[in-house]
Amino acid sequence: MSFTKKNFSIELSRLLLFDKPKVYLEQYPTDSNVAADFLWSALMNGEIEGKTVIDIGAGTGILGFGAMLLGAKKVVFLEIDEKALDICKKNYENICNEFDVTGCEVDFVQKDISKFESKEKFDVVLQNPPFGIKKEHADKIFLETAFKLSKVVYSLHKSETLDFVDGVSKDAGFKVTHKFKYNFPLKSTMSYHTRKIKRIDVTCFRIEKKS
Ligand code: SAH
Repeated sequence: MSFTKKNFSIELSRLLLFDKPKVYLEQYPTDSNVAADFLWSALMNGEIEGKTVIDIGAGTGILGFGAMLLGAKKVVFLEIDEKALDICKKNYENICNEFDVTGCEVDFVQKDISKFESKEKFDVVLQNPPFGIKKEHADKIFLETAFKLSKVVYSLHKSETLDFVDGVSKDAGFKVTHKFKYNFPLKSTMSYHTRKIKRIDVTCFRIEKKS
């Protein structure tokens, strides 16, 4: 598969999304343009093609599928919610019908991140964890787990939590190397939203183990 960045973004926009998103799990899908943008940078950085990837809090799988389409050799989708994981599997079926992704090993794991243990290490972690809108610092456990799994982590957070992300990274012997900033559209799929599309400032942090 060879994509232009634009075509890649269009493919990601065709993925199925959450059916009835759960507020308490902060099921907000990553916007396809946003995902395409930082995944493309990761690709250019040599961190996707032929690499092993884990997508934590995978939801419907946009980040993991992005990596798959860009040539990752293994993608693990880890998600607590069975319903979301079902849609993720459906997305996989659709991708298999359209693209040859036989070179990519795939695993779907239904698990709470706080109970996930793995001896396996990955080349890169991709994640858009709950921002802690409903539960403060719900993203901390995602970062701490990511640091146990890989030396390179791409993680989305509210931009205002920069100091928090920086601090948690430093405590684990990691450092933030890149910040990809976006004005993220939160789709009005949640019942308590009044405006159609609410936008928030989000940063994708590239975080790396200090050598
Ligand atoms: N990665 C997807 C979904 C982001 S929304 C995307 O980028 O579009 C955050 C996801 O984290 C949701 O799918 C939610 O169900 C999942 N999640 C929330 N708490 C979790 C936990 N404790 N363990 C694993 N997944 C969790």
